[in-house]
Amino acid sequence: MQETQKTPKDRHSMPEQPAEVRRSNFLEVPLGYTEEMAQAEASRCIQCKIPKCMEGCPVAVPIPRFIRAIAQGQFAEGIRIIWEKNGLPAVCGRVCPQEIQCEGQCVLGKKGKPVAIGNLERFLADWERAHGDGSLPAKQPPTGKRVAVVGSGPSGLTVAGDLVLKGHAVTLFEAFHKPGGVLIYGIPEFRLPKAIVESEVNTLEKLGVEIVCNTVVGRAVDVSELLDEGYDAVFVGVGAGLPRFLNVPGENLIGVYSANEYLTRANLMKAYDPLYDTPLVPGKNVVVVGGGNVAMDSARTALRMGAESVKIVYRRSRDEMPARVEESHHAEQEGVEFLLLSNPLRFDGNNEGRLTSVTCEKMTLGEPDASGRRRPVPLADADFTMDCDLAIIAVGSGANPLLTSSEPEIKLNRRGNIEADSATGKTFMRGVWAGGDIVTGAATVILAMGAGRKAADSIHDYLMRGW
Ligand code: FAD
Repeated sequence: MQETQKTPKDRHSMPEQPAEVRRSNFLEVPLGYTEEMAQAEASRCIQCKIPKCMEGCPVAVPIPRFIRAIAQGQFAEGIRIIWEKNGLPAVCGRVCPQEIQCEGQCVLGKKGKPVAIGNLERFLADWERAHGDGSLPAKQPPTGKRVAVVGSGPSGLTVAGDLVLKGHAVTLFEAFHKPGGVLIYGIPEFRLPKAIVESEVNTLEKLGVEIVCNTVVGRAVDVSELLDEGYDAVFVGVGAGLPRFLNVPGENLIGVYSANEYLTRANLMKAYDPLYDTPLVPGKNVVVVGGGNVAMDSARTALRMGAESVKIVYRRSRDEMPARVEESHHAEQEGVEFLLLSNPLRFDGNNEGRLTSVTCEKMTLGEPDASGRRRPVPLADADFTMDCDLAIIAVGSGANPLLTSSEPEIKLNRRGNIEADSATGKTFMRGVWAGGDIVTGAATVILAMGAGRKAADSIHDYLMRGW
């Protein structure tokens, strides 16, 4: 276990597996606070009268209140305070980009380190799983209304949980054989143990949510058929799972994967476990293209799958990298190399069609583009080639048209995302709501949950009072 640095004013860092050990196992990297560490960290909070941290949280969790409960050793009370606003604290405590949300606003961060709000949220959720009595929240009496939720990622799970508690009968349809969305098929075990997501899903089932897996809505059944079959409302939370590619020569060689496919095979289909038959090219020299969380997850997974060298190729500089700071830091500690200001031009293969190398161009940064980030501009005569037998493309993902193409009444924007009212999630189709990545484009867990909560409130209102 790595030492925690601790001085009275300093943030209490979380113990974690040493980099040289964890790079070859799939166990969770940070090990969690003890009760003493959590209380000591919570005691750093100065309980601001106007808590900026809450303004930074997309679902306005009452952060100072739950932190005060921890400082006082009232852990059961603390988790109840979080549940008022957030049904998935064990997930959010682990994967939210706190540095640009709650912790980014903490006043202690102005002169030193912000309170470790994410670590404390995770502590309470883990404490509850270990010590809680497993009691379920109280449900309202049955309303006789039925709701279909399509997609079981954080937006769908939130809608299902909120509406079942309000007394509605909820059925959750999922295309994959396991519910959880990206939390199950995308984010790796070493960052978000699957037992945590499974326990959240089990709670929903105990509350009465019916989960129907292996059902692609838009193929097996349409949204309008669900309404005809007697569902009073439908929520669409199908995410943004359609991978983008670079569109450069050689991308169809054996050994070039989308991050989506690579991570799904590794996580959901457990390619890392010898008990499973899932095939996955075991790269020796791996190149991952992209600079977000998905790229970091792919690179760190490839290391754990036995790669000798893993390089992140990113076309901008470190300042523009969208990954959570903790993820890029962990990746580097584990030995992932960063080739910044570099961009693949082509992949080359052998006569069996297998990838053997990648050629990249060097970039410099020009003026800011529409995203506000400085535009990468190629440098002349600076191309270079590297050996590479596995390449993972993690340059973003878009909306999958499977469901929406069968339902023209659901209007889309020019990127193929569903147009929905930002305050309610209502779409242009009567009785149909949408939220999460399918509306915003690829975003974050907490934003998907926030959208789910707004839609659940609006659906409840509709079921009780009309459209
Ligand atoms: P998803 O989680 O995408 O779930 C959608 C579900 O709908 C899926 O299970 C899918 O199988 C199902 N579905 C799709 N089409 C159909 C259909 N036609 N019928 C039935 N079911 C269907 N965010 C963070 O905040 N922090 C992170 O650290 C982070 N890391 C990430 C790492 C990876 C590898 C990825 C891919 C994303 C990451 N994100 C992270 C983003 C975050 O996970 C997403 O923003 C979030 O999961 C979106 O939630 P959602 O409910 O909209 O959809």
